[in-house]
Amino acid sequence: MLSALLSRRACVSVRAMQPMTLPRVVSARGLATGSEPYDVVVIGGGPGGYVAAIKAGQLGLRAACIEKRGSLGGTCLNVGCIPSKAMLNNSHIYHDVAHGLKKRGVDVEGVSLNLPSMMKAKDKAVTGLTKGVEMLLKKNKVDYIKGMGSFASPTTLDVELLDGGKTQVEAKNVIIATGSEVTPFPGVEIDEKQIVSSTGALSLEKVPEKLVVIGGGVIGLELGSVWSRLGAQVTVVEFQDSIGGPGVDGELVATFKKILEKQGLKFELGTKVSTVEKSGDKVTIKAEVKKDGQPKELEADVVLMSIGRRPVTSGLNLEAVGVEVDQRGRVVVDDQYNTTCKGVKCIGDATFGPMLAHKAEEEGIAAVELIKNGFGHVNYDVIPSVIYTYPEVAWVGKSEETLKEEGVAYKVGKFPFLANSRAKTNDETDGFVKFVVEKETDRVLGVHIIGPNAGEMIASACLAMEYSASAEDIARTCHAHPTLSEAFKEAALASYDKPINF
Ligand SMILES: Cc1cc2nc3c(=O)[nH]c(=O)nc-3n(C[C@H](O)[C@H](O)[C@H](O)COP(=O)(O)OP(=O)(O)OC[C@H]3O[C@@H](n4cnc5c(N)ncnc54)[C@H](O)[C@@H]3O)c2cc1C
Repeated sequence: MLSALLSRRACVSVRAMQPMTLPRVVSARGLATGSEPYDVVVIGGGPGGYVAAIKAGQLGLRAACIEKRGSLGGTCLNVGCIPSKAMLNNSHIYHDVAHGLKKRGVDVEGVSLNLPSMMKAKDKAVTGLTKGVEMLLKKNKVDYIKGMGSFASPTTLDVELLDGGKTQVEAKNVIIATGSEVTPFPGVEIDEKQIVSSTGALSLEKVPEKLVVIGGGVIGLELGSVWSRLGAQVTVVEFQDSIGGPGVDGELVATFKKILEKQGLKFELGTKVSTVEKSGDKVTIKAEVKKDGQPKELEADVVLMSIGRRPVTSGLNLEAVGVEVDQRGRVVVDDQYNTTCKGVKCIGDATFGPMLAHKAEEEGIAAVELIKNGFGHVNYDVIPSVIYTYPEVAWVGKSEETLKEEGVAYKVGKFPFLANSRAKTNDETDGFVKFVVEKETDRVLGVHIIGPNAGEMIASACLAMEYSASAEDIARTCHAHPTLSEAFKEAALASYDKPINF
């Protein structure tokens, strides 16, 4: 713990405090007017932007958040994390009731899918949360400006209001939190009906007979799983030779792929898609197998294009104020989120790092703390990743592959859910917990989990790593019985001694 505090203190740089909050004058349109500028204006109301705006309000700064979507919460709440998790949860329940209850001694008959109702449940979750964010902004005295923001100068923002009007907002500090959008595939037009992005895949009107997912990353696998459970034949075509995206532990991925195949998903790995063309109510995908150049042709009712996401900076007029972007469109920032324009910071998907909601949130808080107090901190070594399939896949820290590349001496401890009593009672025994620890010190360097509720369990690993725990610290911590977390404790134990139950 001391080391964590010391590392934080090392980041502290003393800066002048920002002026105190000024009285707000609100016009008929709900916008603050008058000569005094805002302390902070955030462009973008996603998890990075709205969290930054709330934090600014909580720290007594006069803040506004500009959002062009007409609803707060960004990609995450509107068309990302939240609707996808609602569909993942409800499709899992449907599939389990239809196919998994008999073996548990529960006989049910006449199970059928009501897709419109499932979509309504998803929409209810989205609306509840986006409205909730609006209330939080109000509670923290943040002005919510509905419109498209762009730079007139480093301290003046033009806003094209959604109601058709225009306004200008003055700001002492601006935070760009404009997020990301689907990366287009050259020559393929997304119609959100037959050729869809993740947004369209969250609102299909019927279950496609055949769904081809182009891109075997997190989003493709989650949404592929949703439609597979609801009855579609799903084939995932991936350019790389493995699934899940970069940074996932190789052993974890191998187990994950086998489990998904058992569930009915098919994979065409190492395959390069060249064209995706509609003909009538079908879509033809032409591809080439990378290793031998063999052509491959697939037919689908719906194709999900999920080859990645790219930062959104268009329309911000960044050139006018000298905010630099790199070749991949990411806003260039230093370690305090400062862009190349004084007084302008950038956080979240629009800049470097993993495109994750919780990473954007942490940066939002740190950026505002830097403005107000002169210090703020995000520990990039402890940003967890989760794939919310069934079972879930979750990891934090370094994989064995990365440690080998870096030449770090490490040890591995593994514990299978097959030997965990709670997993046995629940008949959910697929997967394992794996620790990689520093050889010399047993310090935890990475934790990789595939299994039930892995996404919740990974929080314990984050906490342990944040406080530089050793595997022994975890293994000597009492865990309740019978819980899945005992597998976590036993895997830690296995990394420096023998597990008890395996
Ligand atoms: C299907 C899907 C599932 C996902 N699931 C997860 C998950 O489970 N967990 C996870 O951590 N992440 C997930 N993500 C990623 C997550 O949604 C993003 O990492 C996160 O939303 C990034 O937050 P942000 O605030 O940087 O940007 P965004 O959420 O993209 O928000 C940016 C906002 O800025 C607005 N904006 C842009 N330009 C302007 C402008 N000029 N003026 C005004 N407003 C503007 C946009 O309208 C948008 O609302 C998922 C993404 C998708 C697509």
